[in-house]
Amino acid sequence: MNESSNRQRGATHLECTETGEHLESEVLQGLSPAGKPLFARYDLDSLAGVYTPEELAGRRADLWRYAEVLPVRDPANRVTLGEGWTPLVDAPRLAGELGLARCWIKDESQNPTATFKARGMALAVSRALELGAEALALPSAGNAGGAAAAYGAAAGMPVHVVVPADTPRPILEEIRAMGAHLHLLDGLITDCGKAVQDGVREFGWWDLSTLKEPYRVEGKKTLGYELFEQLGGRLPDVIVYPTGGGTGLIGMWKAFDEMEALGWIDAGRPRMVAVQARGCAPIVRAFESGAGSAEYYEGAKTYASGLRVPSAVGDFLILDALRASEGAAVAVADHEMARGVARVGESTGIFAAPEGGAVAAAVPQLLERETIRPDDEVVLFNTGSGLKYVGMTPQD
Ligand SMILES: *Cc1c(COP(=O)(O)O)cnc(C)c1O
Repeated sequence: MNESSNRQRGATHLECTETGEHLESEVLQGLSPAGKPLFARYDLDSLAGVYTPEELAGRRADLWRYAEVLPVRDPANRVTLGEGWTPLVDAPRLAGELGLARCWIKDESQNPTATFKARGMALAVSRALELGAEALALPSAGNAGGAAAAYGAAAGMPVHVVVPADTPRPILEEIRAMGAHLHLLDGLITDCGKAVQDGVREFGWWDLSTLKEPYRVEGKKTLGYELFEQLGGRLPDVIVYPTGGGTGLIGMWKAFDEMEALGWIDAGRPRMVAVQARGCAPIVRAFESGAGSAEYYEGAKTYASGLRVPSAVGDFLILDALRASEGAAVAVADHEMARGVARVGESTGIFAAPEGGAVAAAVPQLLERETIRPDDEVVLFNTGSGLKYVGMTPQD
């Protein structure tokens, strides 16, 4: 099978993540009838043994190398700016300082638009184009708006972005420069979501909100495939991930299930860790209380704008993955994130976003509670570039 072959291209159907109900995949679909996220499903039985890691050697160095397990049917509909296949940077000095046997930084700042939001938007915009959407819209804490604006521009589609007025200035300028319609609102991402709903009803915008359409998570899941390939055909012991809406964590967990069905890995899984801000930690609170879903987090406050998400539609999926993997959810204060940014910078040469600093700052807690053990191999996620947060200061 070669990459351009049309065999098996695309999903077989969509499936409700709560009820398992099947839905048609070749029309635009938002949430399931139960109001929950939809997952794209593929004919993995037919792909097993045919779509193998060896098949991937020599393919293009972006996320489209995984075309067989991506939903876009016609390669002509791919909207691409070079997203994915970011470096997995071995970080021995950081590992030494943190007391880890070995750690890598998955450096997602090297994506187009300087954050990993590019992965999700590449897939969501490609599918919106393929299925006939005419205008795109989303509420954003910032970086998703930048990525939507960029991929919308690449596709030649109008984009409406609604963001909190105090979103970092570099992100606002980015969104404007990509020609998107920028709406500023005094409030949080959840308030912005309501404004988008109005536009959806009134003007027929296609809503790209986190997990409210099925394809951003398909872009994010490629993180899981990449870790496997970049580690030479295995997964790490622990993955530490800065969690807002949780798309990346949910996506990797989905990728691991697919890779098992494809026969690439066995039932073993990395322990998955969600790191949140002390000022906005709905998943940490739910994890600690044993709840299956998270309550709205009042008064959300953090300078890590990607983590300023007081309510996540995929909360139950995040919590399931954390518990099934014997992982954890932990919170760090903004000033600890800032110290984490400095530590990562000095020991690796990577200028991390506060979200990346948060992950490094969480390691001592994780060692103490033995979610990370002394001989573990750990992947730390830097999800964006510090350059997008210039001028922002810690809030606690
Ligand atoms: C959006 C974002 C996050 C959170 O990602 P989710 O997958 O939605 O949890 C983390 N870091 C940065 C830089 C982001 O932009």
